[in-house]
Amino acid sequence: MKTYHDLEVQPLDLEIGPYRIHALSTTSFGLDGGAMFGTVPKVLWSRTNPADDQNRITMDCRCLLLISKDKKILIDTGLGGDFEDKYGPKLGPAFAEMYAVEAGSDSGIVTALAKHNLSTDDITDVILTHLHFDHAGGATKSENGQLVPTFKNATHYIQRENLETATSPNLREKASYYSCNFKPLEEAGVLKILDGEQEILPYVSCTLSHGHTRGQQNIWIDDGKSSVLYCADLIPTATHVRLPWVMGYDLNPLLIIEEKKKELTKAAKKGTHLFFEHDPYCSSAKVTPIKDGADFRLESISQLS
Ligand SMILES: [Zn+2]
Repeated sequence: MKTYHDLEVQPLDLEIGPYRIHALSTTSFGLDGGAMFGTVPKVLWSRTNPADDQNRITMDCRCLLLISKDKKILIDTGLGGDFEDKYGPKLGPAFAEMYAVEAGSDSGIVTALAKHNLSTDDITDVILTHLHFDHAGGATKSENGQLVPTFKNATHYIQRENLETATSPNLREKASYYSCNFKPLEEAGVLKILDGEQEILPYVSCTLSHGHTRGQQNIWIDDGKSSVLYCADLIPTATHVRLPWVMGYDLNPLLIIEEKKKELTKAAKKGTHLFFEHDPYCSSAKVTPIKDGADFRLESISQLS
């Protein structure tokens, strides 16, 4: 059995409400380890997340798939493919190299869905936590020289505040928001814009977080007995569970610490499975409070089927 953070990675099968829940790994990529861990020294984070010769750590782009009798719901879409068509002849190849995207990987999602005997056309709903390229890039693809929705039969859900941020990005986030990843969804009329915290679909609801970017939605799947929190960039890897371990990328570190505390307090109480989009070594974990609830640590870690 593999260990990580001195814990054994346990296999996990999960059903919540009407849904069977599956992790879908699309493609791995690399981001600067320093940027991923903000003020945390490298001697600490490199113990669990070693860097390559360019100081990048390995990251997964892991989506969540919910399957019921009449719904096939996808949460986030990975970073997609077709980089040259999307980002142009100069930035496209540079993009793949800069982020160490696995050679030859397509959008990754096609292969991942095929393992469940599904195609992109079977997806009924796509929930986008936010429109950064590594979350929404897989939502569009190039077809006959045009950018189109990858999941053409799906309703796509995004928070209005995030769509507005992505449409007119600030200087700090400009390199993460590209209109090619969401304009084709608007043009095809498949985007459903949400305003605030709410139930999106049966047993699936969102809370909002603004510390990483404006209008990120954290997704809760909860039937009262079992629950999953899709953490997106609120807690990108298991190593980010400790409250002060926040990313250099986060717009507002103090705010995201408060937002993490609120969600982790709830998750620890309910025994929620946290789901990590970017952790390369495990998909999920449970947490327990330490220091009288002033911080949290990993209690167990698992790999969702
Ligand atoms: Zn992000």
